[in-house]
Amino acid sequence: MARYTGAVCRLCRREGQKLFLKGDRCYTDKCAITRRSYAPGQHGASKKKLSNYGLQLREKQKAKRIYGILEKQFRTYYERAEKMRGMSGENLLKLLELRLDNVAFRLGYGASRNEARQLVTHGHFLVNGKRVDIASYKVSVNDVISVSEKSRATEKFKVFAENPKTLPKWLSANPENFEATVIAEPAREDIDVPVNETLIVELYSK
Ligand code: SF4
Repeated sequence: MARYTGAVCRLCRREGQKLFLKGDRCYTDKCAITRRSYAPGQHGASKKKLSNYGLQLREKQKAKRIYGILEKQFRTYYERAEKMRGMSGENLLKLLELRLDNVAFRLGYGASRNEARQLVTHGHFLVNGKRVDIASYKVSVNDVISVSEKSRATEKFKVFAENPKTLPKWLSANPENFEATVIAEPAREDIDVPVNETLIVELYSK
């Protein structure tokens, strides 16, 4: 599974906003956006007005970076979104939200999507009772996501259970039992990522 392995704070600085890629550090004054709120590189501090194409490109890059996806896979998601009924941009965000690593993050397992992805790939989760260690696995309505018996006993997962997160409307969880259910597909208003998906559609429609 290919993924970005460079400095993640650089990605936020490139987009000019916090993407919350590092978990707890993002909420402290150690955040690179707080300390150096200009783009990385030699000419990063000089402000440039973006063209329409530039705006569309930045929006697509931002979405990729928030969900930790590389170009080829992102493009595949877009092609799938286009074939679905409804608005392509919303479908794209819906598909990204339904990834197992994102669902684990939404449930509070991991301070960042990156940490949640690691927990998935290390085999800590079951979907409908079967172990799934594929971060991109797409969950469906009525799927039950649970933590494996062995992992429940670990300190890490006990801490997660003691600090439940506010859930989006499309998920329902029982933290004491380490179990959650997908009760609906996420609607656009339930997806709190700062992305203008219309610009992404415009970019790919050229
Ligand atoms: Fe982005 Fe978090 Fe790094 Fe701040 S600390 S720049 S929000 S990844």
